[in-house]
Amino acid sequence: MRRLLVPVLLPYVARWIEAREHHILVEGTALSEQSTVDALAIGVTNPLRVRLLRVPNVPLPASPLISLAERLGGGPWKNTAGLTARYGIFIREDYWDDRRLIAHELAHTAQYERLGGITPFLRVYLTECLGSGYSGAALELEAVAAAAALDY
Ligand SMILES: [Zn+2]
Repeated sequence: MRRLLVPVLLPYVARWIEAREHHILVEGTALSEQSTVDALAIGVTNPLRVRLLRVPNVPLPASPLISLAERLGGGPWKNTAGLTARYGIFIREDYWDDRRLIAHELAHTAQYERLGGITPFLRVYLTECLGSGYSGAALELEAVAAAAALDY
């Protein structure tokens, strides 16, 4: 059962996400007016706390466990163009102005808020990814739908 990996991965991934969020909040830039409007439409409670950080490549946790989870179908994380650490969002440089990607990541910020923080979000997210696969995870499908529902 791949889901049995969740309690093993969770503390490690949560610490990693907390450190990334801290880094992005220090180094990143505030949302544009458009993305602030999008964040509110998507349901982010505190859009003014969000920071975006432009990076050549989105970093991932360096852990044999993450590699194992990915091999088991947990996610196509290596090619990701964005990654949300609650209020800190990495955006790969070739997607820096991509309103839809930013909206997708903001939907994850709203999920962190709704589920009660980093560890509660990751518990659900990892369970879904390791159970249904990344593309079938309910939190991913919700983020895709939230971004698609905006007026472009
Ligand atoms: Zn996503």
